Amino acid sequence: MKIAIVGNGQLAQMLIESVKDLAFKIDAYPLPEINQNGHSNAHEIVMWQNKLKSYDVVTYEIENISVELLKAVAQETQVYPAIGALKVAQDRLAEKKLFTELEIETNNFIEVNSKEDLLLAKDLLGFPFVLKKRRFGYDGKGQFVIKAAADLQQAWDALGQYDLIAESFVNFDFEVSQVASCDQFSNIVFYPLVRNEHREGILRETHVLTDASELSMVAQEVVKRFIRHFNYVGTFAMEFFVKGNTLYANEIAPRVHNSGHWSIDGANISQFRNHMLAITKEEIVQVKVNARHIMMINLIGENVPKCQLPENVYVKSYGKELRAGRKMGHINIVDNELETFIESVNIIYKNVAAKSCLEEF
Ligand code: AMP
Repeated sequence: MKIAIVGNGQLAQMLIESVKDLAFKIDAYPLPEINQNGHSNAHEIVMWQNKLKSYDVVTYEIENISVELLKAVAQETQVYPAIGALKVAQDRLAEKKLFTELEIETNNFIEVNSKEDLLLAKDLLGFPFVLKKRRFGYDGKGQFVIKAAADLQQAWDALGQYDLIAESFVNFDFEVSQVASCDQFSNIVFYPLVRNEHREGILRETHVLTDASELSMVAQEVVKRFIRHFNYVGTFAMEFFVKGNTLYANEIAPRVHNSGHWSIDGANISQFRNHMLAITKEEIVQVKVNARHIMMINLIGENVPKCQLPENVYVKSYGKELRAGRKMGHINIVDNELETFIESVNIIYKNVAAKSCLEEF
């Protein structure tokens, strides 16, 4: 089977590694040219259509791909996950509207195309509220928390040139995400709900919640609605804010997700392998966690430790050149015993902070 992955970052790398024992021929391609409105020109579209038509299946690792380009490729071969899900994920307004249509709880929102709309948003949502770019915002970039009337002009100066959405600020207790995979036989498997902590808008830690049954049930039911709506095939993720017992849907990712990286070492089957099984017409595998305590730490603009670490620690380097704010790798800690689990977390943070542990053991 010949598989093409559009995008050749760490997610593609991990997708490939997850099935290296299977007889697939996989190529990962750098992203097609795309303009700031999310479109690729006709020449680019035809070029990719020709390049990808000999593959049995095409998948993607990132949302930054033009929908018309993938639709053109889909005339020639199978593309998963559903392009409709990608289209919604590319536009925060479409996303919020679909949450509403599918009766999925989300925070209030309003489309903003002018300064008048912004003033209307202020009246409807009250302070604080968040002004966000509808498209191409990522890792907390392209958004502005408006706390008082004095911030309105500054927010407009920063973002006014884009299509925008304003949404109410959720004073959440914590953030979670639900990762799931669905195959071509309509089987859905869910990874456990995870709690996510961000640093400067970038995911820093993911904690696997092995005992969040009530929230988990809601999250799974909501994700199922999305998956069924799109006839979705592959791995899918949805992020939520949690306030009390309520989950507010924040955004979707029609792809493998950073908050699912723990599954490489902490589960019997990773989100990557289930994605690859799903898109190649295999049955996906039910998920079982390997331990009671599982956590992932993202290395952001930090060196990837190279020395020997405790045996409950799994280090993954993305092989990139060190740059501020760049995801360099991640570390999974998987343990049944709380004491040794915490010990390892402390060792990792000490090493990362001290920039030690850079020589091979
Ligand atoms: P997003 O790109 O929408 O996932 O936003 C990045 C991060 O900003 C989220 O993970 C939250 O920590 C925070 N954030 C975004 N929108 C809101 C909101 N409406 N209320 C509170 N925090 C938010």
